[in-house]
Amino acid sequence: MSGKGHLFILSGPAGAGKGTLRKILFKEMPDLVYSVSCTTRLRRPGEVEGKDYYFVGKNDFVNMIQEDAFLEWAEVHGNYYGTRRSDVETCLDLNYDMVLEIDVQGSRMVKLAMPQAVRIFITVHSMDELENRLEDRGTETPDQMLLRLRNAAREMLYAGECEHTILNDDLDRSSKELIDLVWKYRNQSAGL
Ligand code: 5GP
Repeated sequence: MSGKGHLFILSGPAGAGKGTLRKILFKEMPDLVYSVSCTTRLRRPGEVEGKDYYFVGKNDFVNMIQEDAFLEWAEVHGNYYGTRRSDVETCLDLNYDMVLEIDVQGSRMVKLAMPQAVRIFITVHSMDELENRLEDRGTETPDQMLLRLRNAAREMLYAGECEHTILNDDLDRSSKELIDLVWKYRNQSAGL
């Protein structure tokens, strides 16, 4: 992996706190680059085009698939999501370290294409906890919530395939664990 940036993949079920942990990580390490995904999902209040996602129509998304523009893409909870290949390749070639926050299917695809990728699975103690967190978040309709919870049970099984798992039971502790882990990889290749 010499001369190349690190690629970290955060995955885990909806409600496990991937987004919150990622934001804390970026505060600590602002030189990391976040891979902004394309999605056909509708924009939620407060989300910013080009920062949270590139919001695209389904036809445009399909065209991008046909043009092989995605390093990975997947249908998640009824919408399409994808990581632009050029974003990742450019960033790693320039020696920047990058973070992808993507679902389990996408994580598998990236690992096949880029075996050096470090997969970090964010999990919680129980499905009840996920349900409570999704309820508190309040961004999903009851139907969407049910779909996310159903998918969560399947996604949890992926933890065993990942290089690392972080149990997000206490935000202070789990964010420290994530920061320490990312530092470990970055320092190793810096020879520190
Ligand atoms: P949300 O709609 O809550 O923003 O994201 C739903 C799920 O899609 C999350 O698990 C999120 O990590 C995943 N996701 C976001 N971007 C991508 C992407 O580019 N590719 C894949 N495969 N999943 C993504």
